[in-house]
Amino acid sequence: MTTTDLWQNGWLATARRVDSPNFGARPAGAEVSLVVLHNISLPPEEFGGAYVEQFFTNRLNPATHPYFAGIADVKVSAHFFLRRDGELAQFVSADARAWHAGTSSWQGRDNCNDYSIGVELEGSDSQPFTSAQYAALWSLLDAIRAAYPVVAVAGHEHVAPGRKSDPGACFDWSALAERFPQFIVGGASSSPQAADKVAQSVFFE
Ligand SMILES: [Zn+2]
Repeated sequence: MTTTDLWQNGWLATARRVDSPNFGARPAGAEVSLVVLHNISLPPEEFGGAYVEQFFTNRLNPATHPYFAGIADVKVSAHFFLRRDGELAQFVSADARAWHAGTSSWQGRDNCNDYSIGVELEGSDSQPFTSAQYAALWSLLDAIRAAYPVVAVAGHEHVAPGRKSDPGACFDWSALAERFPQFIVGGASSSPQAADKVAQSVFFE
């Protein structure tokens, strides 16, 4: 596929499109230079349900699970969601600003949502990601690289150290660095102690 076939207005042809209302415009002139990786599971540590998709589209029923009552009104999104089996969903055009990183900074530049693409991996801080997810992530990063001037891939834990812990210690950063030697990978400016400062794990990461 050519880049033109692969992307239409920031929507990736190989992803299942699920529109989220939780997005805005990127600031004028903002170049997409960063990919931020996350993990999420709803309920925490449970995989395979429709709840993440419902959460990102403001359709999560607070009565379904006790955990949902506390987050049902939270308005967040990510550009992409990668299931355990490698299925890829897209909620926000990569040309637009999704709401995934929150208060964040990468190499001295605040507000990562302005200039990043957010990718949520279905998972948790305590369980290894699947080989299907890595394969799909590599394909996704290839597609992103073909269309956007991305120079780095960081974790939420790296752009919000002490506040966020995802994708967590189970994510194989060395495999990513080996597959994408052209990217700055992981916490280029964070300390390894940062994860220890995370007071509690938050699962709508
Ligand atoms: Zn996160």
